[in-house]
Amino acid sequence: RQEPQSLLKELNPAARVGKVYGVVSGKGGVGKSMTTCQLAVTMRRRGYQVGVLDADVTGPSIPKAFGLHQQATGSEAGMNPVLTRTGIQVMSTNLLLANETDPVIWRGPVISGVVQQFWTDVLWNCDYLFVDMPPGTGDVSLSVFQSIPLDGILIVASPQELVSMVVEKAVKMAEMMEVPILGVVENMSYVACPDCGQHIHLFGQGKTREAAERHSLPLLAEMPIDPALAALVDAGDIESFEGSWLDGAADRLEGK
Ligand code: ADP
Repeated sequence: RQEPQSLLKELNPAARVGKVYGVVSGKGGVGKSMTTCQLAVTMRRRGYQVGVLDADVTGPSIPKAFGLHQQATGSEAGMNPVLTRTGIQVMSTNLLLANETDPVIWRGPVISGVVQQFWTDVLWNCDYLFVDMPPGTGDVSLSVFQSIPLDGILIVASPQELVSMVVEKAVKMAEMMEVPILGVVENMSYVACPDCGQHIHLFGQGKTREAAERHSLPLLAEMPIDPALAALVDAGDIESFEGSWLDGAADRLEGK
């Protein structure tokens, strides 16, 4: 197999990035972007400089969640990330397209090249950079693993998947790329009844925990399906979310 470290790309010399964490999932639609956004907001609330590199090039959902619709600007020195209301730095293909509803119809190598440029050309200035990874373990994910020096990854899974297999694949990929796994975030774990507060586990309980334990990985969070969260994403106002589901994950990022 290929030496993973040999393909790592250099950061823009004018940029500063502390730690880089990838957020991965086995497939689309499980809340990888939701988790990335909430992690970024949580760390920003803790006073850090935070960036989000949207590597989900064909399904970019980060700008919309933060209500960003303007185009990114650049100069000789590099591309400027677009700032959210609370000062989170974001770079995404959607911030480069002339028309944000245009589909990205590019082949794998072009997509990989764009993601690499988000690392090598963007003028990041952050303590924590979160990479919203492409879903699954395909060639673009592989290319991100090979070109961006990740300090660790968080795996997002929803309980109704064949979680064991998804976790297994993500774990194996991370091991092959020699990237540490911080733990698993279970999304859509339950719905809280608006009348009595009882937790309804729509897809069964504890499956993700079992899968995580099988791989000796910590279960970092169990996030409910919350209509308020979906509404905030739709309104481009995810920075106003209330809830502390990802505090445990954030503590780990801080090394607590
Ligand atoms: P992925 O990045 O894995 O493709 P997203 O984060 O874009 O998935 O989530 C898919 C959809 O589900 C989005 O519309 C998002 O707002 C919504 N969603 C994700 N997690 C939750 C949640 N915990 N509660 C409510 N809606 C959610």
